[in-house]
Amino acid sequence: MDSRYDIAIIGSGPAGLSAAINSKIRNKNIIVFGNVDLSKKLIKAPKINNYLGFYDITGVELKDKFDSHIKDMGINLIYEKINAVYAMGDYFSLLVNEKMYEASAVIIATGMEFDKPINGELKFLGKGVGYCATCDAPLYRNKVVSIIAYNKEAEEEANFVSEVADKVYYIPMYNGEYNINTDVEIVKDIPVEITGHEKVEILKLKKKNLLTQGVFVLKDSVAPDQLVPGLLIENGHIKVQRNMSTNIDGCFAAGDCTGKPYQYLKSAGEGQVAALSAVLYLDSIKNGI
Ligand code: FAD
Repeated sequence: MDSRYDIAIIGSGPAGLSAAINSKIRNKNIIVFGNVDLSKKLIKAPKINNYLGFYDITGVELKDKFDSHIKDMGINLIYEKINAVYAMGDYFSLLVNEKMYEASAVIIATGMEFDKPINGELKFLGKGVGYCATCDAPLYRNKVVSIIAYNKEAEEEANFVSEVADKVYYIPMYNGEYNINTDVEIVKDIPVEITGHEKVEILKLKKKNLLTQGVFVLKDSVAPDQLVPGLLIENGHIKVQRNMSTNIDGCFAAGDCTGKPYQYLKSAGEGQVAALSAVLYLDSIKNGI
């Protein structure tokens, strides 16, 4: 494991990247987690007319500009999905499957997940439904687990769970090659509902039902309060102060995840404020304030 970073930034959209460049300008030792496309919402935008200085630009063109900006500043992204962030007192532990990173401050810039939950998903959350298969795998020793996977990163999690669970069903919601252990059963179907009494018992799919004790729903982004236990949420967004601080000391947030309007410049602006606030926070710790 690398030594402890000053600031860990989770998310590579405009909020996360703006936080990254501003933290770097302040000479902080940073680590930035995201994906190759930087932001799916960015590359999907056909035309952007409200990004200052770049009238009539496409999302892909703006993404390329962001890419060269961070590369020119020597910022490398880590293409990993953070499963959980734990506040440890004077630092944070960030979990990527079985790997762990440490940072003194964290900026959450994970955007907003707009997909509707599956019927029963929220009802059984914590009662058999979870969002981090590797974190919760030990709970399913010798049990049956179903993994509804929205991206390829979930394959590693499924393989990990299969080493512990008795049986793993893998329901991919994307096409392509699946790099999955042979003992994991791939089920090409559509999830309809999660049912049970006290706890999860059945995952209903369009074509059949699976008897299962656990269901992991692995999307591109995890709900912020699932990602950071104890994080205060208000009306579906991370509650922040004007300096982008959250209710957890050293944890800041920026971009769509803090609330509307969902816009590039608002996200980039908040990323900058979050970075400068994180720098002040680190200075205050150093000076024992
Ligand atoms: P995002 O851009 O969503 O980026 C979040 C990033 O975090 C993603 O890369 C995601 O993969 C990553 N991430 C999430 N969870 C994790 C994790 N656990 N670990 C690691 N990485 C993680 N806005 C405008 O201002 N003008 C427009 O013209 C415009 N057009 C749009 C067109 C479309 C089709 C869409 C969908 C949106 C448009 N928007 C527009 C809105 C804009 O895309 C969003 O407001 C903006 O992208 C939000 O930036 P963000 O950095 O907060 O989050």
